[in-house]
Amino acid sequence: MIKHIAICLILLLCINQCTKKTHESVSTNPQKKSLIEPSMESTKNEALLTKTEEQWKSELTPNEYHVLREKGTEPAFTGQYTDHKTIGIYFCKGCKSELFRSNEKFDSHCGWPSFYKSIDKSKINETLDLSYGMKRVEVTCSNCGGHLGHVFDDGPKEKTGLRYCINSIALGFMDKQVYDSLLKVKK
Ligand SMILES: [Zn+2]
Repeated sequence: MIKHIAICLILLLCINQCTKKTHESVSTNPQKKSLIEPSMESTKNEALLTKTEEQWKSELTPNEYHVLREKGTEPAFTGQYTDHKTIGIYFCKGCKSELFRSNEKFDSHCGWPSFYKSIDKSKINETLDLSYGMKRVEVTCSNCGGHLGHVFDDGPKEKTGLRYCINSIALGFMDKQVYDSLLKVKK
């Protein structure tokens, strides 16, 4: 009887191991159809940070409010970060969420700061924008819902092929040394 139980246990273990291997061998790398995949919904994630319009107005300058909360666009070649080369982190002016890195910024000559990727896909939402008779993909902060700019598929081909075209006024900047020292304090 004990011998039978032992054989059953061994068999069960074998089956378990085989099943695991089958699962592991399944490919998790489906081909991407297009570079930009906007959501048809207003946001991919629920905006975590909710404030009244009065709160936003009291915390932001009128120009910041217009871009971040009313989906405005700053005039080309006027933003403070268009040609900004300092090494560091760009964050959301509305909620301080970290959005882009200076080493993923490139000279697009389009008049706005341009990045070929965000720090993390979860930090931003990409939504189809049909305003002004154009078909574009809007980029917003996934934490506060603030409007940042748009993403286009004419970025550097050797990188992602994307151009995140972002309003300077929607961004803040932190020098890398300051950022790193803050990270150490956090740890
Ligand atoms: Zn934000």
